[in-house]
Amino acid sequence: MGNVRFDAIKRAMEHQPVAVLCPDGRVKDYFADDVFTRERMKEYISQEVLAQLFDDVDNGRTIHRDIAGSVAIGMRKWAMEHGATHYTHWFQPLTGGTAEKHDAFFTLKPDGTLIEEFSGESLYQQEPDASSFPSGGIRNTFEARGYSAWDPSSPVFLIGDTLCIPTVFVAYTGEALDYKTPLIRSTAALCHAAREVCQYFDKQVKHVHANLGWEQEYFLVDEALYHARPDLMLTGRTLMGHASAKNQQLEDHYFGAIPERVLAFMRDLEFEALKAGIPVRTRHNEVAPNQFEMAPIFEDVNLSNDHNLLVMSIMDRVAQRHHFRVLLHEKPYAGVNGSGKHCNWSLQTNTGINLLAPGKNPYQNLQFVTFLVNVLMAVHRHNGLLKASIVSATNEHRLGANEAPPAIISVFLGKQITEVLDKLEKASADKAIIINAKKEMKLGVANIPEILLDNTDRNRTSPFAFTGNRFEFRAVGSSANCGGAMLALNAAVAEQLMLFKQEVDARIEKGEPKERVLFDMIKRYIQACKAIRFDGNGYSDEWKQEAEKRGLDCETSVPLVIDRYLLPDTIRMFETTGVLSRAELESRSEVKWEMYVKKLQIESRVMGDLVVNHVLPAAKRYQTMLLQNVLAVKQVFSADETASLNEMDYSIIRQIEHHSGAILEGVESMTDARHKANRMPDERSKALAYHDNVLPLMAEIREHADALEMIVDDEMWTLPKYRELLFVH
Ligand code: ADP
Ligand code: MG
Repeated sequence: MGNVRFDAIKRAMEHQPVAVLCPDGRVKDYFADDVFTRERMKEYISQEVLAQLFDDVDNGRTIHRDIAGSVAIGMRKWAMEHGATHYTHWFQPLTGGTAEKHDAFFTLKPDGTLIEEFSGESLYQQEPDASSFPSGGIRNTFEARGYSAWDPSSPVFLIGDTLCIPTVFVAYTGEALDYKTPLIRSTAALCHAAREVCQYFDKQVKHVHANLGWEQEYFLVDEALYHARPDLMLTGRTLMGHASAKNQQLEDHYFGAIPERVLAFMRDLEFEALKAGIPVRTRHNEVAPNQFEMAPIFEDVNLSNDHNLLVMSIMDRVAQRHHFRVLLHEKPYAGVNGSGKHCNWSLQTNTGINLLAPGKNPYQNLQFVTFLVNVLMAVHRHNGLLKASIVSATNEHRLGANEAPPAIISVFLGKQITEVLDKLEKASADKAIIINAKKEMKLGVANIPEILLDNTDRNRTSPFAFTGNRFEFRAVGSSANCGGAMLALNAAVAEQLMLFKQEVDARIEKGEPKERVLFDMIKRYIQACKAIRFDGNGYSDEWKQEAEKRGLDCETSVPLVIDRYLLPDTIRMFETTGVLSRAELESRSEVKWEMYVKKLQIESRVMGDLVVNHVLPAAKRYQTMLLQNVLAVKQVFSADETASLNEMDYSIIRQIEHHSGAILEGVESMTDARHKANRMPDERSKALAYHDNVLPLMAEIREHADALEMIVDDEMWTLPKYRELLFVH
């Protein structure tokens, strides 16, 4: 009988590097070829219309419907000239990923003849039949109307023969059903609040915008091996598999040479991404075998997030051409590093100042410290919510594991910034501030004016780290829409800046000098949010105890962490910033629980199937072979001799019996637990039941299955093993 595993290995070994499509030319020759850029729009749309469009976009105003008509004509012309036949609104439902519904660029006239058409109305708004997208109860299916509406701040682009139009997705009552809507709202709130605070330092600041630079980690696996692992295919991760004798102990994969087959894939991936206007720049191996990373140059947070979602789907497509599959799951393999998506985040003014970078003079540095401590305050006050913004059934396996950000949000600042804050905290306001004739402010804190940046003491264990000129939110999962984390961060910082300004203004009104008030507030904030600062080893057990003492949110159960969306402080914060209403928060939590349940339900079923149809048959076959051997030995040798001869066989036969029995029992209990969970009255209780009762049984079953993998004859084992999944490329 053939063994599917050996067939798969053979096919995988035969896979050669695929010829790349990427031309030898310079990036300049094809960058943003598939994008209807502002530059390109000038060839297709009248100057007048464009001036109005750009002005509206840049100032965050709603686009007039009349303008949409003229823009649509130009868009269709460009798209059709480039081979497009269809268009789609491209949106970001709460399930994760992106959704599309394609329509052709033609319609029928009343007389039955065909005309090519793409109206302003079709660009502006669509009503996809999207009743099956989760809405957490906002939209009952009988009133299943959700609208997608054009987001003109993110340019349209081509994928194959389809023009993709980035859109928001909202219920007919106006509530957000996606990630993009609240992300845009949060950016608006943050930028407004930040601009107001900037006025204390520089009246020239008219706009502030938030930047995002993501670092996407992923695994590659050969497609033949992938197809021989039902768990990878159906859940994105291995539900079992004994650790490979060699995995990442030597750390020889990290920054090592990229294998040729992988390099061919990367070149094509980058080519496709660059054509789509995604400024990807960095590629390297990651810590685990077959793990890699790609990162673009940072962009405006909304655009950058669109680009990340787009890149995830491009990856999938390109990988298939190279006979790979991309695993975006946060923890495809137990025992080796998981994948995250570091979100590098900063604030920038229209005057070119990065508000999170130390400045050139004391005034700019006071501004820098102001923003820095406000971010610290926001993260401190909403650390539970920020954790809620990154948890999921898939990220759960990565967080708190030995190599990943702990399930406690804290901020790493590094030695220099810590010293600056310590000095500021101790400095006395009277002595510290001397305003000289030029109105330049001097702080009695010697090294503030020249904060030198040194990235050497970067702490890899921190979930939220200051890295010189930005914060890096590292707890975000590799498969996530980073919009979820970014909108929570933006909103929390927006609210914090609003509170800061209210208090500063009130004190200035009472006659206190501005610099003094600012300095005083900074000092107070430094003291108030000390608990969130932690530069030590986030993986250690001592930190868990310490964090508890400090009052940080230490909950690890995903269903309970999701409750943080509905804390009174969270609701108030989201409502005052206008980012999410209570109803929207309720529906979002509902969707999060529902997704959690669905993922675990699928995993648990796949696990049951794997052990019953793959693991146990292999184990039984091997056990039968051993039993036959015992009988044969008995026929040949005398009773005295067989006693010692059979000892090893007996021991293995018994072990197989033990583990097989435990697996069968485990599967029965797991199925039972699942059925009980499914009968729970609401999504939250279902999620809790899955977390508390189903998940531990899955872990137990896995242990026995992995033990069998170590015992059973290699030739009989049918599921590709870790050493094959991780090292074949
Ligand atoms: P690493 O953190 O692995 O050293 P890089 O230094 O290459 O990686 O940067 C990672 C990401 O951070 C990139 O997307 C980069 O564009 C982004 N980045 C750099 N500076 C900023 C900034 N000021 N604001 C936001 N993102 C930034
Ligand atoms: Mg980084």
